[in-house]
Amino acid sequence: MENILRISNLTKTYQSAGKTLTVLDHINFAVIAGSTNAIVGPSGSGKTTLLGLCAGLDRATSGIVELNGINLGTLTEDQLAQVRNQYIGFIFQNFQLLPTLTALENVMVPLELRGEKNIRTRAMDLLDKVGLADRSHHYPTQLSGGEQQRVSLARAFSNAPRILFADEPTGNLDAETSEKVVKLLFDLNREAGTTLVVVTHDLELAAKTQRIIRIKGGKLVADDLTDKG
Ligand code: ADP
Repeated sequence: MENILRISNLTKTYQSAGKTLTVLDHINFAVIAGSTNAIVGPSGSGKTTLLGLCAGLDRATSGIVELNGINLGTLTEDQLAQVRNQYIGFIFQNFQLLPTLTALENVMVPLELRGEKNIRTRAMDLLDKVGLADRSHHYPTQLSGGEQQRVSLARAFSNAPRILFADEPTGNLDAETSEKVVKLLFDLNREAGTTLVVVTHDLELAAKTQRIIRIKGGKLVADDLTDKG
């Protein structure tokens, strides 16, 4: 089976107060295209950093991130942005919607960046898919946390990503809303074949994926298939 993502000896360090802090320490794993994967581990263990490196939002200190056969470390910033636009969706825990734009406009941004046509209609369709057609003209502050997260899902879905990285997608949501968001993620996997890589504290969500990767103190300490795997 084809690997969409391959991580080799991935290491990330930060320099602070003259000391070297190793946040990720020689991480190795590969992700099969179309699969669903959870990354779990204690707070501060390096999960968010790992996700950012995999998604090309940050650069490794050493080691290789290969996405769709492309070594991200060899790309310029512009090329990296292009790969992100083309293949990757990303969902942040705190939604990261642009506060001065409406829900509809937030979803239109990536479509506009890619120079696509009929972006208003397409963005409206995406909002409809996440059940928010009637909130399209609301600003982020006029939306609940769950609604904001669904707008950020619609935005992440807009480029039909080959792989979607989600950082604690249910972290700030109540049980009912988080169920809706989880369903949207798995629908996308089933219907479009989008590979999911989800950082989560939510063990119920992790158990719905095919595989759980456990990170502790910057090291990969377990990598197991679930009963879905
Ligand atoms: P997790 O997502 O598992 O909670 P993070 O990846 O957010 O962990 O952080 C891992 C470690 O890296 C933490 O100790 C954090 O303080 C440190 N860290 C993250 N970003 C930076 C940075 N820009 N500079 C210095 N240390 C950082």
